[in-house]
This record gives sequence, structure tokens and C-alpha cells, in this order.
Amino acid sequence: GFKCGIVGLPNVGKSTLFNALTQTAAAQAANYPFCTIEPNVGDVAMPEPRLDVLAKIAGSKEIIPTRMNFVDIAGLVRGASKGEGLGNQFLANIREVDAVAYVLRCFEDGDVTHVEGRVDPIADLETVETELMLADMESLEKRTPNLEKKARTGDKDAKEAIILIELALAELREGRPARRADVPADKRREWRMLQLLTAKPVLYIANVDEESAATGNAHSARVEEYAKGEGAPCVVISAKIESEIAVLAPEERKDYLDALGLEETGLTRMIHAGYTLLDLITYFTVGPKEARAWTIRKGWTAPRAAGVIHGDFEKGFIRAETIAYDDFVAANGEAGAREAGKLRQEGKEYVVQDGDVMHFRFNV
Ligand code: GDP
Repeated sequence: GFKCGIVGLPNVGKSTLFNALTQTAAAQAANYPFCTIEPNVGDVAMPEPRLDVLAKIAGSKEIIPTRMNFVDIAGLVRGASKGEGLGNQFLANIREVDAVAYVLRCFEDGDVTHVEGRVDPIADLETVETELMLADMESLEKRTPNLEKKARTGDKDAKEAIILIELALAELREGRPARRADVPADKRREWRMLQLLTAKPVLYIANVDEESAATGNAHSARVEEYAKGEGAPCVVISAKIESEIAVLAPEERKDYLDALGLEETGLTRMIHAGYTLLDLITYFTVGPKEARAWTIRKGWTAPRAAGVIHGDFEKGFIRAETIAYDDFVAANGEAGAREAGKLRQEGKEYVVQDGDVMHFRFNV
């Protein structure tokens, strides 16, 4: 599955948000079984109304949503990368995520100490980013001597790695995150293998006070402006409100949201932003036993998409019977879609589309 790390300075609302995320998931337990892998890892079901529609048409007994992993990565403070360095656990946790959500404090509250003594989300953002950039520089500089030794003996991989490291260091030394580097399209894989913290796509979460949940405030407006300049998504959320919504029964939730002037929970918006950021799409498998959603990256071919279900599906792939979501609904199910000529036989080269209802044929 895909993983999103939650980072930020202390006392900005990370735990509040993380707990709301996992509690919402727990509250949905009837339909959406939830599990906590570790205290700081939450496996959150993706809200997906289309899945309910499909399950109803097909009379599926069970609904199984797709999930996104959220990891609460605590331990980042100013100077963390110096001195003792960022803790090993911190680095291990953040290296393995696909995207990073920066939680930024946009609420004033005299009772909640700010580590820097003032509320300034952009300064906080820069503090967090600086620590991550310093950690990246240190790890790259540590790796260089060994690679240079190898390169001198003619090791081609080492030479290529050095070129990419130089590319990253050029950005970092200018005070820019590694994700700004212009990486050649055919070197993306090797680039990802460098596992740079600041090369990961970023999402900004502006945590506002309860009164500003629907409208945002002056602090969150600055964050939105900044995010726009970066081309990064920004979600305005009130972690406090989210934690109140999280404990409500699903049927009470809508009234509460209406009263606040909100259309969706911040958590839903956050998950959707993560989806967009990572270029993810959903396809479905639907039958009388279960209706299930699967997450893949945009651009994946049918065999690769099948591999998410089981490795054998990918290896033994023969073809995929495919119905677009709208066609499935319009024809009231698979039989109708087949009759209407909307069930397509697709081969190995087919690029799976968002909302496709798939049935894979494979050799064992
Ligand atoms: P973390 O250190 O980043 O994990 O921050 P916490 O989630 O532990 O929050 C620190 C404190 O700020 C707690 O007392 C929270 O109740 C409070 N807090 C978090 N979000 C909000 C908010 O939106 N409004 C207000 N007033 N307080 C908040």
C-alpha cells in the first residue's frame, strides 16, 4: 500500500490529527475493518462512494475499501539534524513513506506553548524543511567517498549515482529541497533509490482553530499562497474539530458538518489530496461475494494493476475483462454491460483507467 508520513514541529497538532484519522477509521469498523500496526501507524480506509454503488448493484455481501497508511513521525525540532542528528527511528520511518504531509500550526492558543514562541506557519515550514535538507546533505556526503572509490575502478553504477548525488547536492546547497532537481526521465528509479527525504512529494496541512474550520484564517491563507507557489496541495483543517467528528456515529457526522458549514471532513479532503499528489487511481473488482477497491498509480498497465491483488495475477496474466464505472452503473451490472457491448477484452498493454471494473483472466 501507499504510505504518507505526518511531520511537523512539536505542539502543532500532529497527534490530534493522527488520532482523529485512526479513530475515524475505527468508528467505521462495521464496514471498514481497521487495524493499527504500531502505535504511530494507522491504516485508513479511503472514502469511496462509487464502491457502495457497485456493491449495491452486484448485491455484494462485503465491501472492502482500499487503504492508505498514515505514519505519525514525531521527533522533529530545530537543530535535530545537528548534534545527535535526527533519530534513527525518525529517519527509518520517513525514508519509507511515499509522500510527506507537513502539519503547520495556524491556530492561536495561549495555553498551548509554541516551541518557537510565536505562530508563524511559513517559518515553521522552513524550519522543518531545513532539518530535512540538512539530513539529506549529510547522508549524501557520507555516501560519496565510497562511491568515488568505486567510480575510479570503472564501476558504471557508482558513476551514475555520483551524477545524481551532485544533482541533489546542487539544489540542497542552494537551500532548495531535492524535489526541485531536474531529474532525467530515465533516471527516476535510481533517483528514488537515493531515498532523499526532500525528494518526496509534499502536502501542506494548515491546522486552524475551531472557529476557522470552514473559512480558514490569515495564517492558513499564507500557507495556501505558499503551496500555490510550489504547486503543492494544501488542506485547511481543524484537528480539534476532526477529533470531535471522529467519535461521532457516521449518521450524525453529516449534521455536524452541515452545522459547521463543511461539505466533507478535513480527513477526507486530506486523503483525496494525498491521492492526487501521488497520482493514484482506483479500480474495482465486483462480485456477489465482495466489492473491492484497489489503488494503483496512473499509467499502470493491466498486468501490473493485477499484481496488486496477487503476484500470480501479474505473472500469469492473459487478459482483463473491463467495464468502465459509468457503463457498469448505466447497464445495472455486468450482465447488462455485456449485452450492451460495454464489456471490453483488454490485453497486456491496456492502461487501467480510474473507475474500471476489472475481471482478470490468468494462467496458474
Ligand atoms: P503534536 O505535538 O504536534 O503532536 O501536537 P498535539 O496534537 O499533541 O497538540 C498539542 C496541543 O495543541 C494539544 O493540547 C492539542 O489539544 C492542541 N491543539 C491541536 N490542534 C488544535 C486546534 O486546532 N486548536 C486548538 N485550540 N488547540 C489545538
